[in-house]
Amino acid sequence: MQSKDNCGVCGQPLVYGTEEVKRICAFCGKEYSALIYCPEGHYVCDACHERAAVDILRDVLRTTTLTNPAAILEKVMSHPAVPMHGPEHHAMVPAIIVTAAKNAGYPVPEGAVEKAIERGSKYPGGWCGSHGACGGGVGVGIAVSVLTGATPLTGKTRGLANEATSFALGKMVDGGARCCKRASRNALNAAVEFLGTRMGIKLDRADKVKCQYVKRNKECIGKECPYYPTSSLPLP
Ligand SMILES: [Zn+2]
Ligand SMILES: [Zn+2]
Repeated sequence: MQSKDNCGVCGQPLVYGTEEVKRICAFCGKEYSALIYCPEGHYVCDACHERAAVDILRDVLRTTTLTNPAAILEKVMSHPAVPMHGPEHHAMVPAIIVTAAKNAGYPVPEGAVEKAIERGSKYPGGWCGSHGACGGGVGVGIAVSVLTGATPLTGKTRGLANEATSFALGKMVDGGARCCKRASRNALNAAVEFLGTRMGIKLDRADKVKCQYVKRNKECIGKECPYYPTSSLPLP
């Protein structure tokens, strides 16, 4: 299987630009403005990039009885259809939080897991760099919004959802290039802390995993990452 960490069409390393360019998705044929694209002109839109991984996510979440968000995340990410980086991780974070809360016996609104997938999967890839808010961190806010039924008009729960995003992003700040594995793991740790202290939802905290994606990640920050196999850094 071709690596999806480079261009999904020709395998070249992708350009991460600062100027938007018009590109046609190689799979669905729709036109997009893109900041991330192949130097040969190929482009894969977010929806096509994440389709297979989101299917896997749905299947795992429908059947898992795990109550530890980190354990669910590692299971989903270990599937070969899940790319190293990309917006599919934005769907994973909120949907896994909601599923873990549900499995732990907390009341969860009807359809909440699907709502979390829908909302998270629409948060574009690369926005950590271009918009200053990592989709993993925003995923914690999405989870809180879904769990509380927040809308732009619901004062208290809207505030709580924004507080959750802010809390998560604050815990995730580091000086390294983006890594969607590190970000998703950090986001779930932050979520466990936030849900426990602010919402009375007690979920299991992560055990320290030894990252198995080091070789796949060209921009791995090594021992500066708490999940690097020989890192002694504590989890955030
Ligand atoms: Zn290409
Ligand atoms: Zn497409």
